[in-house]
Amino acid sequence: MLVAKPIYSITPFTLLDYPDKTACILWFAGCNMRCVYCYNPDIVDGEGKLSVSEAINFLKKRVNLIDAVVLSGGECTRFKGLIELAKEIKKIGMLVKIDTNGSNPDLIKEMIEQKLVDYIALDFKTIEKNFFSVTGSKLHNRFVNTLDLLIEKKIAYEVRTTFHSELIGKQTILKMIDFLSFKKYKGNYFIQNYRNDSATLGGIKNSEYKFNIENPFQNKIKIEIRN
Ligand code: SF4
Repeated sequence: MLVAKPIYSITPFTLLDYPDKTACILWFAGCNMRCVYCYNPDIVDGEGKLSVSEAINFLKKRVNLIDAVVLSGGECTRFKGLIELAKEIKKIGMLVKIDTNGSNPDLIKEMIEQKLVDYIALDFKTIEKNFFSVTGSKLHNRFVNTLDLLIEKKIAYEVRTTFHSELIGKQTILKMIDFLSFKKYKGNYFIQNYRNDSATLGGIKNSEYKFNIENPFQNKIKIEIRN
């Protein structure tokens, strides 16, 4: 069943969320994970306030102002009407980016094959052993399936991780780098440091240190720190 109002809010303009493009972000309400460091508890636990037609009308008025639409959340791939929405965005002539936790590889596959998505940002939460404690979910296998799919399809995409010293410390990141290396991941691996003093889903303590690019394991794959 389609949700009448799946979108929690819209960020009208950003230069940071789609590489080299101006974009707007549609934040979808709800998520199938409960990451303890999640910065968006209102979106994850909140109700949608905007319908797809309201979002499309919003976009149509900005055809000459923005190049791309980022479908984010929450977890946007939970929305059953995502393919139809992407088709509408394509008709307007905008690029589509999906931010995902990787839990819906079948939908991602379909969207790639129908050429309805131009760029994907895939969260690599943590290693399998710690996945439940960090995300509150048992969806690690689906993340791996999505990663395999993106590597195979050669679509433009990135893999990214939020680093928190007490949750995903250096030893864990080392294992994650090994895993990406084993998968023959060729892109940049983006690591964003947890922003201390944020309101989060899990109410966690601050990270005690930031990820350090000087670490010796950095050269297995290309690592880029975002903050
Ligand atoms: S950080 Fe986790 S809980 Fe928050 S939106 Fe992303 S996948 Fe969902």
